[in-house]
Amino acid sequence: MSKLLLKQIHACTVCSEYLPNPPRPTINFHPDAEIMIIGQAPGRLAHVNHKPWSDPSGNRLRSWLNVTPEEFYDARRFALIPMGFCYPGTDIKGGDFPPRSECAPLWHAKIRKQLKNLRLTLLVGQYSQKFYLGNKRKASMTETVNSYRDYLPNFLPLPHPSWRNTVWLKKHPWFESEVLPVLRQLIRSN
Ligand code: SF4
Repeated sequence: MSKLLLKQIHACTVCSEYLPNPPRPTINFHPDAEIMIIGQAPGRLAHVNHKPWSDPSGNRLRSWLNVTPEEFYDARRFALIPMGFCYPGTDIKGGDFPPRSECAPLWHAKIRKQLKNLRLTLLVGQYSQKFYLGNKRKASMTETVNSYRDYLPNFLPLPHPSWRNTVWLKKHPWFESEVLPVLRQLIRSN
């Protein structure tokens, strides 16, 4: 990866006044990566560990992908780039604040330009779907995920694997029976 770009990202303070801690971009990528996973923003654990998806949501995401932690953190395979690179803090109900809106427009295109082998982008949750699919989204996140074939081969929309979506997963069994097998096949295909 471009050392200059990485240096610029790690020196970024653009939205620092809105963050609960000093900026700590939590990302992982290498220019060889074929699959980009775009989540929301690091949660508190991922922030403390300085490792994306090193939390229960990450465990669920890895089970969806059917990959081991070693495979998941192979930066030549997966680029782990959230919509907001720094932990945005938590509200009084225990949910994380949304990713900072300044971040993706500032960095994503620069990173994607470096990913010469990129073949698939997983849009995990509503924020990345809004940013990348815009008005091609359906009326709801559920419909967008259910219409995943409309966005292939470049994008695959997924719900966020947070505990907050456990009820959603129970209500929509087609996600596990239909979408996950397609996701796993796409992950494995070269
Ligand atoms: S969230 Fe993004 S824009 Fe804000 S300080 Fe961190 S790297 Fe910069």
